[in-house]
This record gives sequence, C-alpha cells and structure tokens, in this order.
Amino acid sequence: MKPVHTVVIGAGPAGIGAALALGRDALVLERASGPGGLCASVSLDGAVFDLGGHSFHTPHAHVRELVHGALPMEECRRDAWCHVAGEWVPYPFQQHFGELSDASVVDECRDGMRVASEALAAADFDEFIERRYGPGIARHFLRPYNRKLWGPDLARLDTSWTRARVAPLREPAAGQEGERLALRDGEIVAYPARGAYGEIFRALAERLSSVRYGESVAAVEDGAVRTRAGERIACRQVVSTLPLPALVALIPDAPAALRDSVSRLAALPLALVMLALEKPLETRRQRVYDASRDFPGHKIVLNHNSSRWLREKTRHGILVEVSGAQGDMDDAMLAVRVVAGLREMGLLSATAGVTASHVLRVALGYPAPTHGRAQAVGEAKAWLASKGITTLGRFGEWDYINSDEALHRGLQAGARLAGAG
Ligand SMILES: Cc1cc2nc3c(=O)[nH]c(=O)nc-3n(C[C@H](O)[C@H](O)[C@H](O)COP(=O)(O)OP(=O)(O)OC[C@H]3O[C@@H](n4cnc5c(N)ncnc54)[C@H](O)[C@@H]3O)c2cc1C
Repeated sequence: MKPVHTVVIGAGPAGIGAALALGRDALVLERASGPGGLCASVSLDGAVFDLGGHSFHTPHAHVRELVHGALPMEECRRDAWCHVAGEWVPYPFQQHFGELSDASVVDECRDGMRVASEALAAADFDEFIERRYGPGIARHFLRPYNRKLWGPDLARLDTSWTRARVAPLREPAAGQEGERLALRDGEIVAYPARGAYGEIFRALAERLSSVRYGESVAAVEDGAVRTRAGERIACRQVVSTLPLPALVALIPDAPAALRDSVSRLAALPLALVMLALEKPLETRRQRVYDASRDFPGHKIVLNHNSSRWLREKTRHGILVEVSGAQGDMDDAMLAVRVVAGLREMGLLSATAGVTASHVLRVALGYPAPTHGRAQAVGEAKAWLASKGITTLGRFGEWDYINSDEALHRGLQAGARLAGAG
C-alpha cells in the first residue's frame, strides 16, 4: 500500500489544526470516540460541563475567523471574581483589592505597590510575585492562590509564561498580533451559541478528510505507526499531539537520555468536581478564583452563565477545579467539602438542591513551567524532527497554552509540512 503522507496522532485542537492545513494528506488517529481532547465536554444529570473552565479568546485573527466561521459563537463580557477572606472583589485582585472592607489589608497592598516595579527582574515565579506586585498583594492573594494551584514551592517555576497568564498591576496597551496577554477585567470572550465548548472542535473535525476514532497509537516506528489493534500504517511523517513523555515511550529507538529528560517534565493533575443543580444558578458570575486554605478548589466555574442556550437549560451545574497539589482526597469527601464551601460562600444557597455529583480525574491538567522545561522540550523536538516526527500542543510541547494557540500551532505546522514528506 502507498504510505500515508502524514499520520496525525490526536484529534484535539492541535491535531485538528495540523490536519486541516494538511487536507487530504492527513490521516488522523484518535484514541477517544470523538474529537476535542481536553476541549471535549461532558454532561451530568442534564447539566453540561467542560473539562475545567473553557472560553474562547485569541490574539490570532485567522484562528478567530476559522472558529467563528465554523459555528455560531456568542460573545459576552467575562464576569470573573476573586473570593478573599469571605469577601468578593472583581478579577484581577491586583487591580481591585481597594474594594475590600479591611482598611489594613488595603493599606498593606498599596504600601507594597510602592516598592513593586515591572522593571524588576525575577529569577523565579515566587520572586516575580513579590517584585512585580509588592509584599501586600503577594501575601493576601497571589501567593496563597498560586500555592493552592501549583503547590508550595513557587520558586521551581520560571517566569516565561507570566505575561500571558498573570494580570499586571495596570493594563498594558494591547499586545501585538499573535501575542497573548493575561485576560483583562471584563474581557470579551466567546462560547458556542448552542452546546458546550466541545462543539467548536466537533464542527472543525467535520472538515477533516480522514479521521479514525477509537484508534489508539501504540508505537511510532521508522516510517510507520502501529495501532493498539495491531495495524501497521506506513507513513512519510508523523505529527504527534501526545504528551511528550508518552510519545517518546512509544518510539523503540529513543535514546535513554531523552527518555530520562522528558520523564522529568512536571504536570498538575486535576480533580474536576461537577455538581448538577436542581434549579438554574442564582448568580451571573462565570468564574471565581479562591485563595482560601479551607476550600479545596482554586477555580470555580459557573459555566451555565456562558451562553443564552446554557442559561435556558433547566439543569445548571457548578464545576470546581481542584489541583493535585492539594493532595489525595477521596471523591466522596472532596464533593462534600466542595458543596459545604460553596454554601458558605453563598454560591449555593442553603435550599439549592444538588441532584448529582461526580469527580472527574484529569491526569495531565496543567504543564508546569519549571526551570529546564524549555531546554528539555527543545532537545526532544530536535531529535524527533530528525526522525520525521513533529510534536505539538499543550502536552506535546509541554507549554501552558490554550486551545486557540494549540489550533494556531497545528495550522502552522500543517502548512509547513504540507509540501514536505
Ligand atoms: C482546566 C483547564 C482549563 C482550560 N481553559 C481553557 C480556556 O478557557 N480556553 C481555551 O482555549 N483553552 C483552555 N484550556 C486548554 C485547552 O484545553 C488545551 O490547550 C487544548 O485542549 C490542547 O489541545 P491539544 O490538541 O494540544 O491536546 P489535547 O486536547 O490533550 O488533545 C490530545 C489528543 O490526543 C489523543 N490521544 C492521546 N493518546 C493517544 C494515542 N495513543 N493515540 C491516539 N490519540 C491519542 C487524546 O485522546 C486527545 O484527544 C484549558 C485546559 C484545562 C485543563
């Protein structure tokens, strides 16, 4: 049989992007029964959930055009809040702490800002928090929040990702085309007008020339991939969106040093606590960031406020992201603590009935931007490229990126590889 031009492993955003650009030259093999990867959606007792809070927002004009052209999208102003010591301030805390009622906390944050400067260099993320925001903001929100998410040792993280992810003290002028900046207060974001976030990738996947679902890749050999079912598919090149260590493990002749360096890449697992509610949500809030010690989650996702279609559903849901850094807790205990915490915050009233709960475990949620990550990924990419393999995406490049960026990188790589092979 004639070899396939390019086998694309994975039908998440990066794989879909690559396959769209490669057109008829791509054969996509996806382990799951449908497209979307981490952008797939699930339902529980009539309420709809994404795998963590998802909304669409992109600095890439061509990605925006592609997505908005593929399905009806609804735009809205992002309604995000921080919950701090029993009080609410709009997101981001560093721009709104002045609304807290405790004058001593407000003064401490303001005083700290006097010694903070965007011009100060920082060797790691912990130092970045202190130097860019000052000790008050660090103490009252940014450190406890980020420790809850990433774990106690923030110095193990570098600062390469902060401009894209951590809102500054004052909003900068707009970024350049293609440059992601941290979400702003009241940012305009988009969501499918019908259905959940996964609809975007379902619509895009319909445009693929050749995709096989339920097809897990078990080995990547010279000039071929082998499926779990034992089929050998000859191909000229491979685009992989598998987690990098998993990809390297599938290559029989990968050097031991490479296996070793990618095995040290760190990631956060997530427990997603999903609660289906008897009645629609009583709040218009969409996201809440919580830094307190007693509530296990760092982010609360009130997704049914993301579109009119979701708001009109009779069953709504609340999803709470709990980082693996919080340690092991069994599902039942986690759900009990989350419900109690939400009632205490007033996000769930005492009478609001929870009709169903489920804890979904995601083994790889956030790729940790640790020191040494970029070098390990760079060396792996170079070796893989010498074998005709391109590794792409959130865990393919071990990069803390969103679905729009994964789609963008897939499209770019696919266009580059279209003439090759
Ligand atoms: C909590 C959370 C919140 C997020 N919020 C947002 C947001 O608001 N907005 C946003 O745009 N993005 C958000 N993201 C990021 C977004 O989900 C990812 O960036 C995106 O899904 C990455 O796409 P990908 O194609 O790189 O990887 P994935 O989505 O992981 O896709 C990889 C695919 O490979 C398949 N696969 C794995 N192994 C095999 C195998 N052996 N054979 C065949 N197929 C295989 C998987 O089944 C999967 O479909 C969020 C992510 C998380 C975890």
